[in-house]
Amino acid sequence: VLQGTGLARSFGETRALDGVDIAVRAGESLAVMGPSGSGKSTLLHCLAGIERPDAGQVLLDGTRVDELREPHRSELRRTRYGFVFQFGQLLPELPAAENVALPLMLGGTARREAERRAREWFAPLGLAGKEDSRPGELSGGQAQRVALARALVAGAQVVFADEPTGALDQATGQDVIALLTRITREQNAALVVVTHDPSVARWCDRTAHMRDGRIVREETSTSTNASTHTGAGAAAAAEGG
Ligand code: ATP
Ligand code: MG
Repeated sequence: VLQGTGLARSFGETRALDGVDIAVRAGESLAVMGPSGSGKSTLLHCLAGIERPDAGQVLLDGTRVDELREPHRSELRRTRYGFVFQFGQLLPELPAAENVALPLMLGGTARREAERRAREWFAPLGLAGKEDSRPGELSGGQAQRVALARALVAGAQVVFADEPTGALDQATGQDVIALLTRITREQNAALVVVTHDPSVARWCDRTAHMRDGRIVREETSTSTNASTHTGAGAAAAAEGG
């Protein structure tokens, strides 16, 4: 579904991306790992149309999207993509359900309908009863699950996550990545996850290892996590903590 070829991006003398070829299919999850400064976030930003590559192409379902101009770029991000970051992506003054409803409302859905659809996400994510809490009243793991709902509510085709578990403890992080990989697979969305944590990457179907702006190794996950996707995610949702 999403393909980057020959992607390059420099900042002054720094070659943040130095010729990257990468593809991720519908329903597939890809982890991107590598040392700090190896170009992981830059790759994610170029694939997602947040940054424009200096060279190379990004294709979504065979159509070039790297050349889109505003407002088409923003519209593409809003309608086809979902984003989860390490922290700070929820609007602190809005209740959780309104945060989740926001992408739908920006897409033209009426407030009532948007909120109704937003609320449907809470119980399956173990967030029943948290609909009217503000982000500051949620735990880190709960806030991150609200962020997942917001990334997915509008039916994203590709979900981009940059260190989605970076601010969470180990167990909470496992719950979040379990949910993220399970739901994107169920929705047949592609998932690109940047992470430092091998135990997070293990939930993904494939891992690309970066160094100095290049992909130096790709591996297919052999762990049962990536193929079964039932245990931890379902447990987290049922537990609700
Ligand atoms: P981390 O794990 O620390 O988040 P990363 O792999 O995500 O690292 P990038 O953020 O992609 O790394 O950065 C790759 C290189 O490009 C680094 O050397 C960084 O300093 C540089 N870089 C990234 N963004 C910019 C920018 N906006 N301006 C200047 N240099 C940048
Ligand atoms: Mg980064």
